Amino acid sequence: MTITIHTFVLGAIKNNTYLVVDNASQQAALIDPAAPTNQIPELLEEKGYQLTYMLVTHAHFDHIGGVKWIQSLSSQHIPVAMHALDLDLWKAGGGSRDFGFEFDPGPVPDLIVTDGQTLPLGETSLTVLHTPGHSFGHVTYLDLAEKAAFCGDLIFYHGIGRTDLDVCNEDDLFASIRNKILTLPDDTVLYPGHGGKTTVGEERVNNPFL
Ligand SMILES: [Zn+2]
Ligand SMILES: [Zn+2]
Repeated sequence: MTITIHTFVLGAIKNNTYLVVDNASQQAALIDPAAPTNQIPELLEEKGYQLTYMLVTHAHFDHIGGVKWIQSLSSQHIPVAMHALDLDLWKAGGGSRDFGFEFDPGPVPDLIVTDGQTLPLGETSLTVLHTPGHSFGHVTYLDLAEKAAFCGDLIFYHGIGRTDLDVCNEDDLFASIRNKILTLPDDTVLYPGHGGKTTVGEERVNNPFL
């Protein structure tokens, strides 16, 4: 492996926050910082990792609750990546009002990504796949070489993302899974926003929703 993946389970909805580290350069990308926790800065400090990006799969409040806090700890600006089609959701507090509370996620992301874009991380890179359905601007971050996909709330172990909220579209969700996930090699590991990891092959055969 040329990358190391650390997983933090954070917040009331047990979100997975992933720290992806390129072993050669020690550059790290923090995917979906869900909530403030000292575990993250402590790990960065202990290992000497350099936090290079925060990567947001989509702007729901439970996936972005730690972005502003992580930014506040750093003297240098850390670019925050997200798809433009989730900017409205971000500005609306990440959908928090639908759940009866107000949340200010902080300044909008400044690294607007598009389908097919590649984000270098030391000697590896993450490719952006636009995977709408659970939200308009939902993306998956794929490390092609390592066969690792960080897929947010698109697909879970034997489950799929919910499509009953304002920003959802069920047809788009199934199209995203079919065209962007099930086309990956079977041994590609899927790291979802909630619950345990799985593989493309496992979901292709045993996901009851597909
Ligand atoms: Zn979500
Ligand atoms: Zn979620």
